[in-house]
Amino acid sequence: MSTFNGKIVEIPKISADNFEGDNVTSLVYFLSHCHSDHMRGLDNINFQNSLLQRPGVYLYASSISIKILKNIYKDKSRYPRIESKLKVIPVNHPTLIKIPDTNQSFTVTTIPAGHCPGSVMFLFEIDNKNILYTGDYRASANDLEKFKAFYSLGNLKRIDKMYLDTTFFNKSYLKFPPRRESLEQICSAIKEWIERDPKHLVNITPTAKYGSEFLFMEIAKEMQMPIHVNEDCYNVYKCIPEMDNAVTLNPAETRIHSNCGIKYKQICLTSTEFLREIVPSAMWWRGKNLESFVEEEHENKIRICYSSHASFEEIKDFLLLLKPAEVEPCVVPTSVKEKIDLTNLLEQIMLSYKVDCSNENVKLFDRVEVVELQDDDEEDNLPDDLLHSPKNDFKRRRKWLVDGTEL
Ligand SMILES: [Zn+2]
Ligand SMILES: [Zn+2]
Repeated sequence: MSTFNGKIVEIPKISADNFEGDNVTSLVYFLSHCHSDHMRGLDNINFQNSLLQRPGVYLYASSISIKILKNIYKDKSRYPRIESKLKVIPVNHPTLIKIPDTNQSFTVTTIPAGHCPGSVMFLFEIDNKNILYTGDYRASANDLEKFKAFYSLGNLKRIDKMYLDTTFFNKSYLKFPPRRESLEQICSAIKEWIERDPKHLVNITPTAKYGSEFLFMEIAKEMQMPIHVNEDCYNVYKCIPEMDNAVTLNPAETRIHSNCGIKYKQICLTSTEFLREIVPSAMWWRGKNLESFVEEEHENKIRICYSSHASFEEIKDFLLLLKPAEVEPCVVPTSVKEKIDLTNLLEQIMLSYKVDCSNENVKLFDRVEVVELQDDDEEDNLPDDLLHSPKNDFKRRRKWLVDGTEL
């Protein structure tokens, strides 16, 4: 769940994925994808009025995200009010944006983020500074390094600051299977069950609140039948042009269901013995050995690891590829212990590539955060040779974290 405050501090008056508080007076807005933790404040009437009243001020997003915004709650006129203020940025195409009422401009390039339909990263370029905002993403460094936006004259661009999706930046989520493999397992578990008996039905119960779009699209395509969902879910998914045939409100059209709602028992289920529950999730697999990422609790309940966010190793590889000089995590855990673990892990990875080129201090957070250390906080148990980084003086850095003074 994004904890990002919306501020891309390197460029004055621009905001991404947060439209509350100070962001209401920003002059350029960006939306990386249409999940509600990235849309805070967007349907607030003050924000919408402020946007509508200021000429030259726009909200930029990918074409699919804009279609979704225009479709969402069309009847309730939630986002269509600001329809005239929504602008598409073509994917992979550097676009020059002038900051209204100033002489400043910057370039933005969107890069597919592989998280949900229409999700993108933003690469901002201003005054020789390159800033990457990843939004939520799931992609390997191998796939991401193919995008020419990251190159200048054949070399990787220097990234001065990266705003990073750190949802699973934790060694308990070292690796996830590629989504293609998770989907194959999910589809074979569905097939095996429904082919066994004409009375058999499948219930898919994703544990994450968001991020089932690709999952449902691919299952519907592979199984040649839509997924029966509840009305809330249908109202969101039907707005996504790519999901036209993936979901339905008619239970008679399909044998695959997903949290159909309170009416579920009456509408879809004759007897639990005929039902197989399939649980795609990432969090349940925390710390587990993923040699097998399918766990059959019994034939009526199967868990399969599936993630629409990058794993720890995918994030690490991406950092090692782009070597950002500064990183701001966009998903900061609430627990102090996990916050410190996150800082230490980022610091170690960054030191592993910084040591060769400079001795400058690693500065992870633009605003130094004062956190309280608990007495029972464990000493770091990270191996010294993690990522072949040099030994690190954690005590000194902890001091920096505790009293807010720079090293
Ligand atoms: Zn998301
Ligand atoms: Zn159903």
